[in-house]
Amino acid sequence: MTRKISDERKGAYGIGLVLQIIGGCLFGIPFIVGPLSVMSGNIDSGAIPAAFIAAFIGFGLIVAGGFIRNVAAKGSAGSGLVLDPEKAREDLEPWSRMGGGMVKDALDEADINLNNLGGGHSVPQQVIMIKCRECGKLNEEDSKFCQECGKPM
Ligand SMILES: [Zn+2]
Repeated sequence: MTRKISDERKGAYGIGLVLQIIGGCLFGIPFIVGPLSVMSGNIDSGAIPAAFIAAFIGFGLIVAGGFIRNVAAKGSAGSGLVLDPEKAREDLEPWSRMGGGMVKDALDEADINLNNLGGGHSVPQQVIMIKCRECGKLNEEDSKFCQECGKPM
């Protein structure tokens, strides 16, 4: 049972991030080259098509980088890449634990101690009883007939 995100997945997350940064730079090239070419007047230089190819590759890198980051963060099963519920539960475990931790923090803040709710001091359960009109026997509030004499309540 993995209790934390493995180093391989952290590494893959970093690679995905780098791919996205490179992709972002490539994607931005036409927005720099385009206006520059227009200003300098040499639009036919072939710089613009090349810039758009770079942007296309950059877009691919952004998508691929995002995909790698998602898989790295959640694991191959957790991200839905591998259909294995058991593995997915394991891969997502650090994330669900993080969620559970946040819930616990919220409860701590609200001054609720879960340990006292489970056992120890049992609060006596309050039951409202009603008296039978015929015989005076105490019956539970929701009973339709008297337990003692059987008359309708
Ligand atoms: Zn009765």
